[in-house]
Amino acid sequence: MTRTLSCWCGNTSLGSFSIGYLRCGACETLVAAQMPAVQDVLVQDDERDFYGKHYFDRLSKEFGQPSLQERSRSDMAERCLHWLSGLLKYKLPPARVLELGSAHGGFVAMMRWTGFDATGLDVSPGLCDLARQTFNVPILTGPVESQTIPPQTLDVVALMDVLEHLPDPVGTMRHCASLLKPDGIFYIQTPIYIEGKTLEEMESENDAFLQQLKADQHLFLFSRSSVALFFERLGFKHVNFEPAIFSFYDMALVAGRQPFVTFTEQEAGARLESQVSSRLTLALLDLSHRFQKLNAHSEAVSRESEERERGLHELTAVIKARDARIGEVERVAEERLASLEALNAMTEEIRREAEKRERGLHELTAIIGVRDARIAEVERMAEERLASLKAMHVHAEEIRRESEKQLQEKEIHTALHVDALRESGEKERATHTSLGESLVREDELRKEILKFKCETILDFIKRKIRTRKSRTDATGS
Ligand SMILES: [Zn+2]
Repeated sequence: MTRTLSCWCGNTSLGSFSIGYLRCGACETLVAAQMPAVQDVLVQDDERDFYGKHYFDRLSKEFGQPSLQERSRSDMAERCLHWLSGLLKYKLPPARVLELGSAHGGFVAMMRWTGFDATGLDVSPGLCDLARQTFNVPILTGPVESQTIPPQTLDVVALMDVLEHLPDPVGTMRHCASLLKPDGIFYIQTPIYIEGKTLEEMESENDAFLQQLKADQHLFLFSRSSVALFFERLGFKHVNFEPAIFSFYDMALVAGRQPFVTFTEQEAGARLESQVSSRLTLALLDLSHRFQKLNAHSEAVSRESEERERGLHELTAVIKARDARIGEVERVAEERLASLEALNAMTEEIRREAEKRERGLHELTAIIGVRDARIAEVERMAEERLASLKAMHVHAEEIRRESEKQLQEKEIHTALHVDALRESGEKERATHTSLGESLVREDELRKEILKFKCETILDFIKRKIRTRKSRTDATGS
C-alpha cells in the first residue's frame, strides 16, 4: 500500500529524476516514487517481511555484500571504529546512546567497551537475537516509537545508514528528538545526493552514488542542504558535517539544538585512559590513528610514486625523442662523412691529375725548349741558306746577264754569218737553179746554228760551274 506522494518537507509537486525516484526542487531531496506506508516497513513476520531477519541475507545475495556474520567481524576495525572516533569528538563516556538499526550490534558493543551506556534497536526480532548472541549487548526490538524510553534521557541517538529507510523521517526523528536531552545530539550517516545533479550526469561519470538508488528501501536521499533543513525544522539548528568513511556516496553529520561542545583526541584519549573498561578501545583507536597516518603516508607515497612514474615516462619519452634525434644527426654525419671521403678521393684524384699534368707540362716545356733550339738552329741554317741562295741568285743573274750578252754577240755574229751564207746561198741559188736544194741547205744551216747555239751555252755553263766548284773547294780546304 502506498500513500500520496510528498517530500518530507511537505512539497507535493515533485519533479522527475529516474524510474524509481522523484526530485524535490524545494529542498533537493530524492523521494522514492513508490512510498510504502509506515506500517508496511514494520516487521510482523520476521521470516518474510522486508526488514525481517533475512534482510541482510537478501542484500548479500542481491548486491554481493558480505554476510552479516562476516560483517560482525570486519566492521569492528573499520566503520565501527571510525564512527566511535567521530562520536568521541562530541560526547565522552559515560553518555547514554541509542543506536537505531543496530544490525549485528557491533557498534553498540564498541561504544559499551568504551564506557558509553549504549543500547541498540532493531525491528527484526531475529536480528536482535543475533546481536545479543554475538556481542552480548542490550537491544530493543520494534519501532522506536513503541519503546518505553523516558523523554530527554539520551545523550545521543545514532542512525548509521538508517535515516534513508524511514517512511516517515520527520515523525520518527521528532520522536527521537523528544528522547534527547537538551544538549543531546543526533549522530547520522546517510547517502549524499549532490544537489542538482541529474541521473545522466551521474551515469556519464559512473558516480558511486548510483549504488544508493535502491528505491524499494532508500525512501529519502538527502543532500547536505536538505538534511540541514530537516534537522533545523526539528529544532536542531546546529549541524556539523564530519568525514564519512565512504565519502564517495555517504555523508556523516552531527545535529544539536545547542552549540556543540567538542573534545580533542587528547581529551578523549585521557578520558578513555582513566577507565579500565575502555583501555582496549583506546588501543584500537590508537592503532586506527596509526593506520590512518600510515594510510595517508602510503597514499602520499603512491601519489609521489605515480608522479615520479609520470615523470619517468615523460623523461623516457624525451630520451627516446633525443635518441631519435641523435640517430638522425648520426645518419646525417655519416652521410656527410661519406661525401667528405668521396670529396677527399676526388681531391686526391685531382691532385694526382694536376701532378701528372705538371709533369707533362715540364716535359712539354723541355720539348719546346729543345724544339725552340732546333727552330733557332733551323732558322739560322735557313738564313745561311737564304744568304747563300741570294748570293747564288746574284751570281746566276750575273751569269744570265753574261750569257745574254754573249748570246747577243753570237746572234750578231750568227746574223752576220747567216747574211753571208744567205748571200752565198743566193749566189748559189743563182748558181743552182734548183730552189729545193737551197731550202735543204738553209734547213741544215738552221739546225747547225741551233746546235751551235746550244753547244755554246752548254759550254759556257759547264765552264762556269767548274769555276765555281774550284772556288768552293779552295774555300773548304
Ligand atoms: Zn522536499
